[in-house]
Amino acid sequence: MSQKGCLSDAHGACISEPMCVYHKSEYIRFYCEECRVFICDDCITGKGKHRRCFKTKLSDYGNRTRRLLRERTKRAEDKLSKLSSELDLAMHVQKRFNEAVDESISSVVFRREIIRQKFDDLQKELITKLDGLRNQANTQYEEFINLHTNQYCKMKEVTETIRTTETEMTENDMVMYTSKLNKFIDSSEAVPKLEPPSYVTDDKYFSSKYLRQLFGDIEFVELNCQPIATY
Ligand SMILES: [Zn+2]
Ligand SMILES: [Zn+2]
Repeated sequence: MSQKGCLSDAHGACISEPMCVYHKSEYIRFYCEECRVFICDDCITGKGKHRRCFKTKLSDYGNRTRRLLRERTKRAEDKLSKLSSELDLAMHVQKRFNEAVDESISSVVFRREIIRQKFDDLQKELITKLDGLRNQANTQYEEFINLHTNQYCKMKEVTETIRTTETEMTENDMVMYTSKLNKFIDSSEAVPKLEPPSYVTDDKYFSSKYLRQLFGDIEFVELNCQPIATY
């Protein structure tokens, strides 16, 4: 009986022509379980090398191999189903991971916006304070300038009047003008010397360390990189 087709020996090599390797003209009929080779009738009769070996008929060997293949196929299918679930899970956790990163990015942007608003408020507060102090100082400068501009004009006029009318002045006028001049000469005018407000900052708060404390930082567990299974 001819046995056509492809058989595999223990090493997985394909035997395209199922002839006995020891008896080239004989078709293989058995599988020697002990020597793990395909053998023919001549191998197990007479002085055949495998006559005492434990062997299986080729059809039984085929059935057994098929059963094994089916069992392996079933297990592979179970594993495929499990792998499919794992893939679903992987995609789900990847999605959750990315959503969590997106949430963190939104928080960073939100925090930045809050800081911007707070600093805008502080900037407004500082500028308002500086403007208030400037206004107070300007009021004092303007009061001084107005007061002394008036006095300057008045006394300039007085001195010019004296220069032009001195020769025709009565005694009373001279006494009156002298008194005015004395009053003016003795008056003191202290120019307001106001210390301008200065904006002070502490450079230590501009270090990355402090700014990071203000802005926040990323807390993370080292990503656990496991080798990806290959099929
Ligand atoms: Zn043989
Ligand atoms: Zn044998």
